[in-house]
Amino acid sequence: MAINRILIANRGEIALRIHRAAHEMGIETVAVHSTADAEAMHVRLADHAVCIGPPAAADSYLNTAAIISAAEVTGADAIHPGYGFMSENAQFAEIVEAHGITWIGPKPEHIRTMGDKVQAKKTAGALGLPLVPGSDGAVSDFDEMKRVAAEIGYPVLAKAAAGGGGRGMKVIPSEDQMEPLVKQAMSEAKAAFGDDTMYLEKYLGNPRHIEFQVFGDGNGNAIHLGERDCSLQRRHQKVLEEAPSPVITPEERDRMGGIVAKAMADMGYRGAGTIEFLWEDGKFYFIEMNTRLQVEHPVTEAITGMDLVREQIRIADGKPLSVTQEDLRFTGHAIECRINAEDPFTFAPSPGKVTAYHPAGGMHVRVDSGLYAGYSIPPYYDSMIAKLIVYGRTREGCIMRLKRALEEMVVEGVKTSIPLHAELIRQPDILSGDYSIKWLEDYLAKRNAE
Ligand code: ADP
Repeated sequence: MAINRILIANRGEIALRIHRAAHEMGIETVAVHSTADAEAMHVRLADHAVCIGPPAAADSYLNTAAIISAAEVTGADAIHPGYGFMSENAQFAEIVEAHGITWIGPKPEHIRTMGDKVQAKKTAGALGLPLVPGSDGAVSDFDEMKRVAAEIGYPVLAKAAAGGGGRGMKVIPSEDQMEPLVKQAMSEAKAAFGDDTMYLEKYLGNPRHIEFQVFGDGNGNAIHLGERDCSLQRRHQKVLEEAPSPVITPEERDRMGGIVAKAMADMGYRGAGTIEFLWEDGKFYFIEMNTRLQVEHPVTEAITGMDLVREQIRIADGKPLSVTQEDLRFTGHAIECRINAEDPFTFAPSPGKVTAYHPAGGMHVRVDSGLYAGYSIPPYYDSMIAKLIVYGRTREGCIMRLKRALEEMVVEGVKTSIPLHAELIRQPDILSGDYSIKWLEDYLAKRNAE
């Protein structure tokens, strides 16, 4: 059954990204949008558009009944959830499939398993992925927690099984602080996810965040598309991503990528996924798997020449993987800057009307964004307004081109993080690739003290 019309259950740059891939495949698109997004670029470009509710995401982009009705009314035969919103909602995926609509995403059971971090870790361990030392599953008893922590050594990290976005997570420096801090993490997790199940992990002092992109066909075949280094983070949010990682050798990529691809093949995984690891002193430690497309997927597209959204649509349509592992080549270097509508120094959100917009251009420069002059950035959603992705044959060349592209990029009327990126890309540690997940927060603390 061929896909002819895709409903895009998302907004912003990723909705536009999906629209573009669909149209390049000769597939029509349906945009669903809140009243706040009526003037959005992807709504203007889509073949059909349906307003599904008021600005609050809970009433629109997270409104199952409204999205399914929009698909029925417009005759959409597939739904692409993008990232965020419905993308990792197993129940939504089941409802989509129950309506005879193709879900462009992993099997619901895999979304469910990987969405629970305790289950995810168990599954990853059983599939042969290296884990961060920690408790064997969930722990609820403080004496048991202290026993586990004494075994793995302080500091330990208490994490919520239902966690996401860095919430429900606390570093426990010593035994006497176990109870008060875990209680804090539990009430945070209860408030954010309605579930206060906790587990413990060794707290790694200075790791990098390195993740592998994978694709499976759902029938036991899977490939990896190499790694992305997302160590530049603020408050557990990625700021800049690059591929390949400055610290991973081709041999290590083949070895670890092979382990990850085999795990996905054994699992019968379908579609796009990302296996996230912390990396310290040459060792990988699994932290979680995201069963969806990631914001930073374009850096992988740049170094592999593959269109990841096209691949997702093909697989959902029952087609085999378009390349074999042997055919895949990693060439050159790519960096993505996430551009947010926010103050580059205080990080306060800066929504409002964009009075002038000029995206960077030229060879190997890509801007994924729904911005245009006159567009009003609504205050209700994520502050990311554009992604600047630059490719070069070497990392040095890529960085030179990125400096040039950041100079060209103009967004007026709101504050953006463009100046922050221009500053970061000049720091010696970034130039040499010598940075961990702690680097950016340390750098900002020092800068703000001056
Ligand atoms: P979330 O789903 O909330 O984003 P993750 O498990 O992906 O949680 O972790 C988010 C970030 O927290 C990681 O990218 C890393 O910066 C930090 N982190 C997670 N686990 C550890 C650990 N065991 N030691 C040190 N830092 C960690």
